[in-house]
Amino acid sequence: MKFLRAKPPTFTLEQVRDHLGRHFNLAGELTPLYSERDQNFRLTDTHHRDWTVKIANTAEDPAVITCQIGAFAHIAKVDPGLPVPRLHPTADGEDMVEIAHDDGQRHQLYLVSFLPGITFDKVARVADLPVRLGRVLARLGRALAGYDHRGAHDRQLLWDAREAPQYLPEVHRLPSAKDRDLAIGVLERLRDRVTPNLAGLRHQLIHGDVNEHNALVDPSTSCEITGINDFGDMIHAPLVQDISSLAADYMNDPASVLEVLSSAVAGYHSITALQPAEIELIFDLTSSRLMLAPLINCYRQEITPDSPNYLSDFTEKHLACCHALQMIGCEAVTRSLRQVCGLSATGTAPVRSAADVAPTVATLLSRRNRALSPSMPLFYDPPLHLFKGDGVWLTDFAGRRYLDCYNNVPHVGHCHPHVTEAIAAQIRRLNTNTRYLGEQVVEYSERLTRSLNHGPSGKPSGNQLSACAFVNSGSEANDLAWRIARSCTGNAGGIAMEFAYHGITEATDAFSPSAASGGRISPHVRTLIPPDPYRGAYRGTEQDLAQKFAAHADVQIASLARAGLKPAAFFVDPAFMTNGVLDVMPGYLKSVFDKVRAAGGLWIADEVQSGFGRMGSLFWGHSHHDVTPDIVTIGKPAGNGHPLGVVITRPEIMDEFCRQSSFFSTFGGNNVSCAAGLAVLDVIEQERLVENAASTGAHLKQGLTILMKKHDVIGAVRGTGLAIGVELVIDHQTRAPARYQTGRLLNLLRDEGILVGNEGQLANIVKVRPPIVFEKEHADIALNAFDRALTRL
Ligand code: PMP
Repeated sequence: MKFLRAKPPTFTLEQVRDHLGRHFNLAGELTPLYSERDQNFRLTDTHHRDWTVKIANTAEDPAVITCQIGAFAHIAKVDPGLPVPRLHPTADGEDMVEIAHDDGQRHQLYLVSFLPGITFDKVARVADLPVRLGRVLARLGRALAGYDHRGAHDRQLLWDAREAPQYLPEVHRLPSAKDRDLAIGVLERLRDRVTPNLAGLRHQLIHGDVNEHNALVDPSTSCEITGINDFGDMIHAPLVQDISSLAADYMNDPASVLEVLSSAVAGYHSITALQPAEIELIFDLTSSRLMLAPLINCYRQEITPDSPNYLSDFTEKHLACCHALQMIGCEAVTRSLRQVCGLSATGTAPVRSAADVAPTVATLLSRRNRALSPSMPLFYDPPLHLFKGDGVWLTDFAGRRYLDCYNNVPHVGHCHPHVTEAIAAQIRRLNTNTRYLGEQVVEYSERLTRSLNHGPSGKPSGNQLSACAFVNSGSEANDLAWRIARSCTGNAGGIAMEFAYHGITEATDAFSPSAASGGRISPHVRTLIPPDPYRGAYRGTEQDLAQKFAAHADVQIASLARAGLKPAAFFVDPAFMTNGVLDVMPGYLKSVFDKVRAAGGLWIADEVQSGFGRMGSLFWGHSHHDVTPDIVTIGKPAGNGHPLGVVITRPEIMDEFCRQSSFFSTFGGNNVSCAAGLAVLDVIEQERLVENAASTGAHLKQGLTILMKKHDVIGAVRGTGLAIGVELVIDHQTRAPARYQTGRLLNLLRDEGILVGNEGQLANIVKVRPPIVFEKEHADIALNAFDRALTRL
């Protein structure tokens, strides 16, 4: 146990400063940091970047340091999102430099990034912190699974729980007889019951010492893990040892030992399924780790009485927690851990396979491939396995938070309490269908149609969109709208934008070339070239452009006529989202609309994406184009995640349709869906979200436009409110699409914890379309991440 006697190096600040200047070309402010055996400093350099300067103890084998440095590089490759340090090489490109102390000893000095956050002993211990720590630790274990280094083998470490039995001769140093009995019981059990079984367990390199000095937490939330530091105890050992050590080090209250252990194990198991043989040993490994602090402390105080007694706090609390754990007993603890891991409490046969209960990403993916289809699209590789949502934040099973800049369904924020409570309250009371009188469906229809038929000042606009029919999705709403248009006009032709998307049913798929492989177009449908002032064929004033693009409607109406068809409807998404979130010139839609009307067709505004204030300032997307549609369809955001689709039209159109066909949708307009819809409207009003979409959207767009000056790859930034498109190009002159860079940017942003989407026919547009509770502070987080990711592109 050479480190019991080895003292940390004692370089002066001046000497360290000198080495940093000479070997790293770095200067700045140095602050000493605590270390048990090394000498560490925080360096804030002249560019305000923070680094940890590490000067290793001479007793340290250089292979241990190279092992750590290799691990940092490996983790950066396989799980770049893990918050672990990154190495800063010397000015000569070396990993570290050897420096001489005045006493003639030579030490290795190296520099790694300083991770943000504070150690978890300084934050309130929120309930799910051990779960999150467990998840991050499991992720770290998975990342290290493919890495090996001789520096982590054959190490004898002070804090290795497996080594605890060698302290048996030291037990007499503990002052209290009760504690001595405890220690003997724990260490002998480890020696007799655990040690013989260890060799059969999964072994790999593990961190070995994620404790309250090494795990960092975001002080504002007390639960996001922002860093795992100090890989100096990395060791080739049984995988399960990592989680038992973490749980032991987290315990600080005898009353909650089982809760902490179960939570940490549950978090770990949700990422990496623990095996039954591993679970059996957790109780003893945890107890041993708890005993180490008191034993090491007593021993150290005797052999080096002048060393700081920093372990005294641990001694007390670890002894108390170890006593508490023994009181519960191995059997009860193991039973509880087996249950947490989805195994039967006592038997050896699992109740359900562990993977059924808490699958890892890899297992879940292969099950999904079998249960759904491997060709069913997924975002990201590896895909995200999300655990919970809250406002604009999503958290994955490893406890990593992502800023949601993409999802429009949770319009008023993920799991908004007003909406979730409205749904829960209604489903507890009643849920039936629209063939019975129900106040929710009537009130929701009235409030929706009020928003469609009144201007922003509240004055009636003269619109008569006052009749609603209820379905369950955007596709169904568009499908029904198409049936209404056909039956009311008697026509059979349709018009949509090139690369539009309007749904999955046979009728709406015909209007969705973006979803058709090979751009298949149905014989009764004609598409219009998108009015894209950046990439489109025409140049000129806005007025010219509006007329030139709209003229294509004449061509396509004529084409339908040649096929013996007249238009029943023109479908359009007022945000032109699938076309890359276009800034469409004023007058364009009005002009197309007039042409379609003159040919006998109706205009269907598909507000599935653009409605409910998405585009800021005005409630509906079509209002931004100063036109009134014949039919409006809504879906996605209406229920904030609860299925809800509506078709709204003029009463005479709805009457005519209902006379021709008896319309009823079993779930459409049920009490619960309408309660969700009403709650969404409440939140939009109460939190002034339409105004927020305008102001935050403008701020975000401005920030992205500034980035355009710095990053050449951005060809255009456009959009209205919180529907923004960032078009990436290889060359500003030719506008050649930067398709590869767009895909890479999406992944780099994911690594930064930012979720965005990819859009457009050329797949070169980054779509930023967050829940509309997105605020300026979120926009700033996203902008900084865009800047960093674009720099790394
Ligand atoms: N219309 C538009 C404009 C859409 O974006 C979508 C969904 N992406 C739909 C219709 C179809 O909605 P759903 O997936 O709810 O059927």
